[in-house]
Amino acid sequence: MRQLGALRSLVVKVGTGLCMRDDGRLDGPTLLALAQQMAALRQRGCRLVLVTSGAVGMGRAVLDEYAPVSLAEKQALAAVGQVAIMNAWQNIFGLLDVRVAQVLLTRQDLESHERFLNARHVLSALQRRGILPVVNENDSVATEEIKIGDNDNLASLVGNVVDADVVVNLTSTEGLWRGVPGAPGAEIVREVHHIDEALEALVHGSKTRHGTGGMMTKIQAARIATGYGAHMAIVPGREPNVLLRLMDGEEIGTVFIPGQRRVRGRRRWIAYGGKVAGTLRVDAGASEAVKRKGRSLLAAGIVDVQGRFEVGDLVRVEGPDGDKIGQGLANYSSEQVARIKGLPTEQFEGVLGFKGHDEVVHRDHFVLEQGSPQPTPPHLERPAGQPVSIDLPRGQGPALDA
Ligand code: GLU
Repeated sequence: MRQLGALRSLVVKVGTGLCMRDDGRLDGPTLLALAQQMAALRQRGCRLVLVTSGAVGMGRAVLDEYAPVSLAEKQALAAVGQVAIMNAWQNIFGLLDVRVAQVLLTRQDLESHERFLNARHVLSALQRRGILPVVNENDSVATEEIKIGDNDNLASLVGNVVDADVVVNLTSTEGLWRGVPGAPGAEIVREVHHIDEALEALVHGSKTRHGTGGMMTKIQAARIATGYGAHMAIVPGREPNVLLRLMDGEEIGTVFIPGQRRVRGRRRWIAYGGKVAGTLRVDAGASEAVKRKGRSLLAAGIVDVQGRFEVGDLVRVEGPDGDKIGQGLANYSSEQVARIKGLPTEQFEGVLGFKGHDEVVHRDHFVLEQGSPQPTPPHLERPAGQPVSIDLPRGQGPALDA
């Protein structure tokens, strides 16, 4: 039996394939049934954010335009359809005495730490007032470069913003299939503990009729959600009482179970919100120290720097073979790192003209790649005397606090 009942913070994503019927009209009965379940979960004390698709689909329906169109035309369709889908949710939730608010986001709103926090504050301010935030991508202004592009990933990223315990992806399929969906012998994968290539190979799924994402984007989204420590469920949205049954522990759809490690607060943004500006390649000793011992990254262990970044920007840290170790906030710019890489801390001042931080990336501002084993907390270890790390007490890192 699944243990989802104790989880309190939910992001519920409703795909276009549920918002709309096959004939392109709004599927009011489905939206009402889902709204009733969301209202019931709120009564049980759950905090919810709804991520809804349907802007482009509804825009097409309202204007009766189904031919492929240019980006600007599609943005226009989304501008029309967003009003329609929001209007539908407002009316439906209105019947249930639930007030709603519209929050439209783009990738940029989640990439800068300041805007990420701003989104967090507005969502929690709404929740505190008992208002249900209804989120979509801001499709009418989001061009290809700034787009998240699908609401599966958007829902997981929003879950990161609100510290969700579970992201429920309501869809028109029954879950993740092992085998060709519906064929004899094929079955739904009920629980996933680790997302690997074998799992990705299961994905036969093409797109649903009206939506953007397919099963592959749902798996990407599950990687994000489980990576920061939330469950993610892919469940059939038209199944009666699916949300309540899922939360009551019934085996329905596919549930991705997070590992033990729960990433919190600002480290969530470091891991899954921000835009990576550059890469630091480190030697085997530094890799070992950062990965296994949870140490900060020092310049001595850095062998190469790529990309252009400033102090406070997010950088990827990779091992000698190019494997990602994790990502974190840089205490030095790319230009400065290029000058101090390989050097012991004592030489920084001579090279840079000032004495900055000992660490290039402090361990408090670093998040290990998902799937890496938990490092031993440094305070449980004897000092290793290696030149690759210095442990400062918490709080002495750079002033990049939330
Ligand atoms: N934001 C898009 C819309 O509302 C949906 C993207 C998706 O289908 O995942 O039309």
